[in-house]
Amino acid sequence: MSHFIDLHTHSSASDGTDAPEALIESAKKAGLGAIAITDHDCFGSEKAFGAAEKEGIEFVPGIEVSIGYPPPRGRIIEDEGIHILGLFINPEAPALKELLCEVVAEREDRNEKIARAMRDDGLPVFLEDLKKNNPGAVIGRPHFGAALVKCGAASDMNDAFFRYLNPTKKYFRKREYIEKQRCFDVIHASGGIPVIAHPLQYKYPPDEFEAFIRDMKSCGAEAMECVYTGYGPGQQRLLMSMAKRFELLPSGGSDYHGSKKSIKLGGAKVPYEYLEGLKDRLRR
Ligand SMILES: [Zn+2]
Ligand SMILES: [Zn+2]
Repeated sequence: MSHFIDLHTHSSASDGTDAPEALIESAKKAGLGAIAITDHDCFGSEKAFGAAEKEGIEFVPGIEVSIGYPPPRGRIIEDEGIHILGLFINPEAPALKELLCEVVAEREDRNEKIARAMRDDGLPVFLEDLKKNNPGAVIGRPHFGAALVKCGAASDMNDAFFRYLNPTKKYFRKREYIEKQRCFDVIHASGGIPVIAHPLQYKYPPDEFEAFIRDMKSCGAEAMECVYTGYGPGQQRLLMSMAKRFELLPSGGSDYHGSKKSIKLGGAKVPYEYLEGLKDRLRR
């Protein structure tokens, strides 16, 4: 059995470019022993179960949920929330389905507000057109950006974001995030293990970082990504020691998104033992 796994990847069900079955095939080709597909706010990997069986690779059904959380003190950043993975979730669990429906409704509502604001300014931007022209895609700011370029309101995508879509600009609408405790409770209710995703990405200074991890643990986090694309040996050691201190299991993954980013599937070199630890936890 292969020594390496990848427990954080995205398929075309969210913002990745590879269909779930293709992702399984690529994982097999990359020599991985197991792969989790953790799409943003949705589970669209039903076909991955059969594909994984055919390829003889372990498949972990997963999800990545964004929760609202205060950014580091004094930092004015684009608030993207904190990301929590749910590994081994049952995609049919009613609590999970309900939560994901709410996320979709919130996004739909926000997109409709953006489109309406643009039309109020005389711009020919219609949500229905964006959906028709981007079948299967989760419509978001890049699609509105492209529409602004197309109708001549912006010269290119950078210009569209810079002038209209960034957080302080007129067509930005704040996202209403899932409340943190609910996220952990729903992952647990669907049989999953909540994992703190890419903990260094939020750029907390050391004292705030510790408070953040402690808070996540008290909400129900059971694992933390200690190995992740771009995290060097020193960072991995820091995260491993934090995980140990707060009794969190180590997890890890690449955050592969397909051909749109340069991240390599399996590139984070996550050891198979991490999966064994998570499976032990499930059995308890
Ligand atoms: Zn993420
Ligand atoms: Zn991700």
